[in-house]
Amino acid sequence: MNLTFLGTGAAPSNPLPFCRCNNCQQARELGGRSFRKRSSLLVNNDLIIDLGPDIMSASLLFDVDLSSVRYCLQTHPHGDHFDISNLFSRHPEYAPVDVPPLSFYASAVTLQQAAKLAEDELLGAKLLDPIYCQQLNLEIHKVEPLRPFDVGHYKVIAFPANHGPETSSLLYSVSADGQTIFYGTDTAQIPEETWKGFHLTQIKFNIVILDHTYGLGFARDDDHLNAAQFIDQVARMRNEGILADNARILATHISHEGNPVHPELSKYAAKNGYEIAYDGLSI
Ligand SMILES: [Zn+2]
Ligand SMILES: [Zn+2]
Ligand SMILES: [Zn+2]
Repeated sequence: MNLTFLGTGAAPSNPLPFCRCNNCQQARELGGRSFRKRSSLLVNNDLIIDLGPDIMSASLLFDVDLSSVRYCLQTHPHGDHFDISNLFSRHPEYAPVDVPPLSFYASAVTLQQAAKLAEDELLGAKLLDPIYCQQLNLEIHKVEPLRPFDVGHYKVIAFPANHGPETSSLLYSVSADGQTIFYGTDTAQIPEETWKGFHLTQIKFNIVILDHTYGLGFARDDDHLNAAQFIDQVARMRNEGILADNARILATHISHEGNPVHPELSKYAAKNGYEIAYDGLSI
């Protein structure tokens, strides 16, 4: 599998447009890997995790063609992960030509919230109506956590996240060609139900991509991880035999709070056995 990070920032981007904290000022000066768009991951050229607001600018910057995408795994409906205009752009009224089919996977709650967004933004748009889906050449799939399913040639399992009860956020494992990746944002400490799921499905991750929102900053237990919690979660994965030999561990969803510029943050991560992802990183 080839992975391309289309974005590695948290909700308000990094730096924040109007913030003058040290981390944001330094990120502005340094640019490059310290400048982060909202999080999204492209797997090969046909599967995307999260149709976020920055995927088109990322596709231009990193020279990837999103018209090849056939599958989307949506983690949750927060605005930094889901921009419904990406779906609207498929509608005949925008005159797109030869729009390929797209299978869209999300939890029941995410689908309901996406449908509400659609109705609010485009009067009368009924995202879950089969006729409207046909117009978008879109197939919608409701995902149940902990039940493996096939997406093209990928095997996928969705796991419950710990990201506020109202979102029903999902974390995903994606397996193909003998490799398994885990995409774990947005989440605070991984719920026990998910740890049980890891064991029940006897999964082993070759690559773990995990929430690092608050970096060296404050700890919370209900929305995102900081660096100490991140390290703790990875250690638990290792202790419980969930990591493959030589698994690569990468941090994403990086906010200005507690996360210095990329070179500095990378040094801290290297000391602690992991890497910091950056926009455009391809592995
Ligand atoms: Zn987020
Ligand atoms: Zn800032
Ligand atoms: Zn979120």
